[in-house]
Parts: sequence; structure tokens; C-alpha cells
Amino acid sequence: MFKEIGIEESIIRAITELGFETPMPVQEQVIPLLLEDNSKDVIALAQTGTGKTAAFGIPILQNLDVNKKQVQVLILSPTRELCLQIADDLANYSKYKEGVKVAAVFGGASIERQIKLVKNGAQIISATPGRLLDLINRKEINISEVETVVLDEADEMLNMGFRDELEAILSETPEDKNMLLFSATMPSEITGIIKRYMDNPVEITIGKKFRCREC
Ligand code: AMP
Repeated sequence: MFKEIGIEESIIRAITELGFETPMPVQEQVIPLLLEDNSKDVIALAQTGTGKTAAFGIPILQNLDVNKKQVQVLILSPTRELCLQIADDLANYSKYKEGVKVAAVFGGASIERQIKLVKNGAQIISATPGRLLDLINRKEINISEVETVVLDEADEMLNMGFRDELEAILSETPEDKNMLLFSATMPSEITGIIKRYMDNPVEITIGKKFRCREC
């Protein structure tokens, strides 16, 4: 049950309305871990459809400082569809939690509108790497106080050629942030990122055996 893994009442109310009754395996593993200690780095080998958005989204929402009106959480994903889906999902899970602001930042849409949303005190940014880097370079987004970075579908982001953007973004975030990495596969480029940016990560496998020879 969601209550037993420590999820707060306002979030339980919202996810119950969405039809979530019992946690999916990735949620059972990741949620209690991050609720207990949100400084833990996590690598999860999990495909789309396994419930990974709630696995990282629920603890992020619960640990958020809603009184701080600056970017605390960055969620990077490869496509505008996924980026919007994540922003929508987080808005839905936090429907009964006051003061949560989520902004979606992605290419192919008005940058001015996105800047306005970010400047309106968004604490969580769901972004595709190219557009986010553009906003960082224009000094429209400050990520120097970010506490948590999620790389969702990390293998897809690398397949789509976002490696330089990812490195540039990660280098602007504080050293002591915590990082959550979700990927369906673990190619060597990902193990490189894990080595450079993650600190003693907990490894979770959903479905398949997790193999990470270089970390
Ligand atoms: P995701 O892998 O995050 O894209 O989630 C896959 C689908 O499962 C989405 O439609 C979610 O809304 C749904 N979902 C996530 N967690 C649960 C749960 N605990 N119970 C029922 N459905 C869920």
C-alpha cells in the first residue's frame, strides 16, 4: 500500500483518484529509499510503462520545499512528448499539495511563454536538454541551487545526440546535488556519466538483470 511506504496524505489522495491502488515494483523500491534519504543517488534500469514517473515524481514532490521559489529539481527527458507527460503527471500527483509549481521547457514552442512560467517561481523544471541549455545560456534559468537532477530515458537522450548538452547542463549544477538516472539500457556512455556525476548510487533493476561492468 502507498501509505505503508510513507507517502503523504495529499499525494495519496491524488494518486488514488488516478486509479493507483498498489505501488508498482519500481515504486516499491525507489519511493521508500528517497523518502528516507533524499541525498541518495539511484540508477534504475526500467523501461517505459513500469511506473517510473511516479517512482521519482512522488518523492520529489514530497521532499520539495514549496516556500522556496527557485528551481530545486530538474527532470531531463529526450522528447517534448515525454517532457510534457512528466510535467502533467507531477501536476496531477500534487493536485492537493499547495504551492507546487512545475514548468515544462521544450523546443518547438514559444520560448517567451516558457521563460514566464519558469520566472513565476517554478521549483520543478521538466525539460528537453537543447531548450534547457538555450535558457541557461540566455541566463533565463538559474540552476545553481538545484538539489535533484533526474535523467529519464537516459539512453534515448544519448541516442538522440544530447550528450554535449547533458554534460553542459550537469556541469552547471551543484556538486552535492542528488541524481536519479532511469534508462532501459546501460551503454558505456551512460556508465561514463554515472562515474563522473553520481556518488555511490543504489542500483535497481526492474524486469531484467542489471549489468554495469564499469561502475
Ligand atoms: P510510466 O512508466 O511512468 O510512464 O507509467 C506507466 C503508466 O502506469 C502510466 O499510465 C501511469 O499513470 C500508470 N501507473 C503508474 N503507477 C501506477 C500504479 N501504482 N497503479 C496503477 N497505475 C500506475
